[in-house]
Amino acid sequence: MRYISTRGHAQSQSFCDILLGGLAPDGGLYLPESYPQVTPAELAEWRELPYHALALKVLQKFIDDIPACDLKTLADRTYTAQTYRWCRPGRDAADVTPLTTLEPDLHLLELSNGPTLAFKDMAMQLLGNLFEYVLQKRGETINILGATSGDTGSAAEYAMRGKQGVRVFMLSPHGLMSPFQRAQMYSLQDPNIFNIAITAMFDDCQDIVKAVSNDAAFKAKYKIGAVNSINWARVAAQIVYYFKGYFAATQSNDEQVAFCVPSGNFGNICAGHIARMMGLPIARLVLATNENDVLDEFFRTGVYRPRATAETHVTSSPSMDISKASNFERFVFDLVGRDPKVVKELWARVDTGGAFDLNGTPHMAKLPDYRFASGRSSHADRLATIRTVWEKYGTMIDTHTADAVKVALEHREAGVPMVVLETAQPVKFAETIREALNREPSRPAELEGIEALPQRVEVMPVDVQAVKDFIVRHCG
Ligand SMILES: *Cc1c(COP(=O)(O)O)cnc(C)c1O
Repeated sequence: MRYISTRGHAQSQSFCDILLGGLAPDGGLYLPESYPQVTPAELAEWRELPYHALALKVLQKFIDDIPACDLKTLADRTYTAQTYRWCRPGRDAADVTPLTTLEPDLHLLELSNGPTLAFKDMAMQLLGNLFEYVLQKRGETINILGATSGDTGSAAEYAMRGKQGVRVFMLSPHGLMSPFQRAQMYSLQDPNIFNIAITAMFDDCQDIVKAVSNDAAFKAKYKIGAVNSINWARVAAQIVYYFKGYFAATQSNDEQVAFCVPSGNFGNICAGHIARMMGLPIARLVLATNENDVLDEFFRTGVYRPRATAETHVTSSPSMDISKASNFERFVFDLVGRDPKVVKELWARVDTGGAFDLNGTPHMAKLPDYRFASGRSSHADRLATIRTVWEKYGTMIDTHTADAVKVALEHREAGVPMVVLETAQPVKFAETIREALNREPSRPAELEGIEALPQRVEVMPVDVQAVKDFIVRHCG
């Protein structure tokens, strides 16, 4: 399987070549040069497989430069009942992504049972094992530099802790994450994990990361890398649970299902789009946003208008607070018939702060073929949905999942099971749970009292040179 850029860069790449990189050299995103297809016989066989074995089957369709036996070891090691043990009482952790049925044809697919209690673990845990494997083969090392306001940074640290050849330098805004999030990250004692709390806002942390990465000489010398959401391997890993969720919600492969996905950067739902392109019988992909409704607007109107950072709402489903959706370019590449000239032309506008409108183009007529629907949710909707799901089904859901349930209920079709992707556990957003239910969310017993554990964090001012010096000091 070769990978091409959405902007047409000529040189196709293998999976391992794009694994450690980010954007393609022309600023585009990598995609397989064609989508592998799943035959009815394969679907029948896959229905019976446990998660780790299903993951191997799906990943083998996209990865042909890692020997099958090695890939099997990596998948087996990643998707264990032990790693995904924080499921609801009565569920089987060996399912990795158990299905919770709220009522006939309305389900939650639990994607947040991993170490950081959010769905980003699903892909990041595999990435950690893939990085270690490829770096070891090549005799290389990497220093991952990132900025986080919560979920991504902790998922990266828990995936990379103890991995050979990998160090993580993670910047976070000092004092601005919740006590639980701080405890999750800063209590890690692994010598390859470095937490740096910057006495400023998240945007300042991100600016420091950009400044360090823009110093090409420093970047090359200290092998600075990233694990952001445009990484192709993360999307590939996410395709697996669409298959798993389909099998769990149906009896036979003649049935169709709908998935509802709480969306920000379009990474999660992009994997659903690809699963459908591979032949998984998906009737509809329902995209849910919060008040930051750039994507809902596109699917309703054909206009993609990324917002300025200052226009981005700070909401109670913060992991979806985005102004532009970094993975959206992958879908648009398919929508415009995989013509990189069109993508380049559209993103020439987006990258200079503009918008595009597909109305009146032949692409707009194709949009219904991709079977998307969309909707948005507000803080009041979120509170009401958390309450309803708690009172009606006795199930507590987090704020992001609530946005998706709200929108899912607006898009149900008779006879088509609706599977809502559950992307985080309520304990991560306790303040809003208290506001909605006037009670404390439960947390896994093992995580009781983590706020009291000793923390390992370096506090620094907004100073690019100080961060560079810190990296140099800790690279040996
Ligand atoms: C990252 C995240 C999302 C959004 O996923 P995208 O891939 O960015 O669309 C939704 N919910 C939670 C809890 C997240 O952490």
